Amino acid sequence: MTPKNLEDLYVHQLRDLYSAETLIIDALPRMAKKASNPQLRKAFEMHLEETKQQKERLDQIFSRMDISPKGQTCKAMKGLIAEAEDFIDEAKKLFGSDSPSAVLDAGLIAEAQRVEHYEISAYGTVATYAETLGLHSDHQLLSATIAEEKKTDSMLSDLAKTMVNPAAVTA
Ligand code: FE
Ligand code: FE
Ligand code: FE
Repeated sequence: MTPKNLEDLYVHQLRDLYSAETLIIDALPRMAKKASNPQLRKAFEMHLEETKQQKERLDQIFSRMDISPKGQTCKAMKGLIAEAEDFIDEAKKLFGSDSPSAVLDAGLIAEAQRVEHYEISAYGTVATYAETLGLHSDHQLLSATIAEEKKTDSMLSDLAKTMVNPAAVTA
């Protein structure tokens, strides 16, 4: 479908995000399983629950518009997740199958932050569209999600700076 106006583009961008969140819900449990730092694991598990809520918020927006959230694939998120999976596979070769390491954790944070930044950018765009279109309740829902993505991003930065990266220096 070629978007003809801002509302069409809004739907297009929301479907991309719906696909992205669906892919993340699938990937986060695997990332949590690979994290050896307990706080990192917990951060991934917590964000998995938030991500399910975020998908629920998008569902609310789509049901108000009475249209399907499906029909699009976020190729960028597929690519980011593929990179994360590749990294996990490579790390297994480097460090052995059952040697959890701070380097692996640092790499997981690097991949996860790419995901959060994509989301912060994309949700920022749709929140701005919602504002222009006068969709106040959508704007509120999307802003709640942006706050969670930003909080997750800064939590990952803190974990990296205070624990994981220093531990990886001499891992
Ligand atoms: Fe999300
Ligand atoms: Fe996308
Ligand atoms: Fe997120």
